[in-house]
Amino acid sequence: MSSKNIRKVIIVGGGTAGWMAAAALSKLLGKNLDISLIESDQIGTVGVGEATIPLLSAFHQLLGIKEPDFMRATQATFKLGIQFENWGALGDKYIHGFGIIGQDCWACSFHHFWAKSRQQGNKATLVDYSLHKHAAKADKFKLDLEHGLAYAYHLDATRYAKFLRQFSEQHGVKRIEGKIVDVATDADSGTIESVTLESGQAISGDLYIDCSGFRALLIEGALKTGYEDWTHWLPCDRACAVQTKSVGPPIPYTRSIAHEAGWQWRIPLQHRVGNGLVYCSEYLSDEDAKQTLLDNIEGDMITEPRLIRFRTGRRVKQWNKNCVSLGLASGFLEPLESTSIHLVQSGIIRLMQLFPTSGINPVEVDEYNTQSRLEFEYVRDFIILHYHVTERDDSPFWNYCRTMNIPESLSRRLDLFRSNGRIFRENFELFFDGSWSQVMTGQRFMPDGYHPIVDLMSADELRNFLNNIAAENVKTVSTYPSHQEFIDSYCKAASPD
Ligand SMILES: Cc1cc2nc3c(=O)[nH]c(=O)nc-3n(C[C@H](O)[C@H](O)[C@H](O)COP(=O)(O)OP(=O)(O)OC[C@H]3O[C@@H](n4cnc5c(N)ncnc54)[C@H](O)[C@@H]3O)c2cc1C
Repeated sequence: MSSKNIRKVIIVGGGTAGWMAAAALSKLLGKNLDISLIESDQIGTVGVGEATIPLLSAFHQLLGIKEPDFMRATQATFKLGIQFENWGALGDKYIHGFGIIGQDCWACSFHHFWAKSRQQGNKATLVDYSLHKHAAKADKFKLDLEHGLAYAYHLDATRYAKFLRQFSEQHGVKRIEGKIVDVATDADSGTIESVTLESGQAISGDLYIDCSGFRALLIEGALKTGYEDWTHWLPCDRACAVQTKSVGPPIPYTRSIAHEAGWQWRIPLQHRVGNGLVYCSEYLSDEDAKQTLLDNIEGDMITEPRLIRFRTGRRVKQWNKNCVSLGLASGFLEPLESTSIHLVQSGIIRLMQLFPTSGINPVEVDEYNTQSRLEFEYVRDFIILHYHVTERDDSPFWNYCRTMNIPESLSRRLDLFRSNGRIFRENFELFFDGSWSQVMTGQRFMPDGYHPIVDLMSADELRNFLNNIAAENVKTVSTYPSHQEFIDSYCKAASPD
């Protein structure tokens, strides 16, 4: 244990991760800390990462950020879920919506009721009972806590970093512009002592937060922490990204369209659309990937297509000695379920819960690393699910994904669901059973049985129960304004400069 009080915090990197960390630490622990953030204009940020999950609003509430202000500043739109196209089979389409579907009971979730009705000939999909799906497909939105309409945002990543920078500077964070060219470590303990900029200036702190992106300058470059590679389960290793002009009002959901060797995202913002193709370089060349993307965009390009390389996996210890890594420096799970910004957020919250004010304690470091590992592994399994549970056999990529070995934790989950539709959420797990059931059934993986409590309802009662839910959803959505109308009245951004 180091008994050195932690007062001076150095954040390395000014992308989404760095500025989120700066904003949270300065607002919530700022009075006790001296926080500096170093970023290099020469290097810049990854510039993608524009779809989120609902918990981001909790982060903003914690910081006292007003939703309309944030949305105006980042040209944000609302997101009710993700539409997956061509995943279970070519031509398939389903929405993984946020929030619960139908009505759960004390013993089991709604999907058990639906599973029985399906055996009795009901042709509706599970997601047909989702309020989120109805609102999404009708292009409608409003803030509707009463009916549990959960939502996230699509946002402009560059503007989000700028917005959080302004917030952080107002709360006392010092920004230092410059490229780090050297990181010095203590010869005995191996802890980080200082970082040196190209200008020769050396900067030292008590705790370093590595938000330097894929470079992982401190956690890997200096501390050689090690990386657990998950490419054998998640073989996509590149993305080609491009921004386009909008061709219509923004839809309130992300589109994820599976292609021959990967998938394409479409993220509608107020002022433009973010597009990209995530693919596996073993099965698709960079040139073909670029062409596939360009063949499948709408609207004129605003930026040139950009290649991004990545390796899926996680840093073996996300906190090592006096360095905590966040964002791309801490590991990477591809953006299929828009989880990276959330993992930054939960890493920040975890760090604040375990903040080493009176010195770095190995037990607390271990706790941080265990929780982070579990959280990453659960998300990993959920993403693998999308690739593995498919009937696609039209390309070598899909044949690999469909037949590959999967983690034991995922295999157990699939077996449990297959037999009687059971899903259990574990500690530190992000996705709840409604997410698992939507993706599994959306990709044609159906339960053979269901919870026996469902048999307490007669066939007529079950039919009425389901019909009422469907009718209630239609009625509720009919009262919503269009997504665009809601944005216009609530958070319309100024035209981009
Ligand atoms: C293709 C793709 C799509 C994605 N889509 C999503 C999504 O939809 N939703 C989601 O939640 N996440 C997504 N992500 C992840 C998301 O982009 C990142 O989690 C998020 O942007 C955080 O990035 P970062 O801040 O860790 O790194 P970066 O944005 O790369 O920032 C790194 C910072 O470190 C600085 N730096 C690096 N080296 C030095 C140096 N030597 N000296 C000084 N400064 C240095 C840089 O200047 C920069 O400021 C996606 C990622 C990829 C690759």
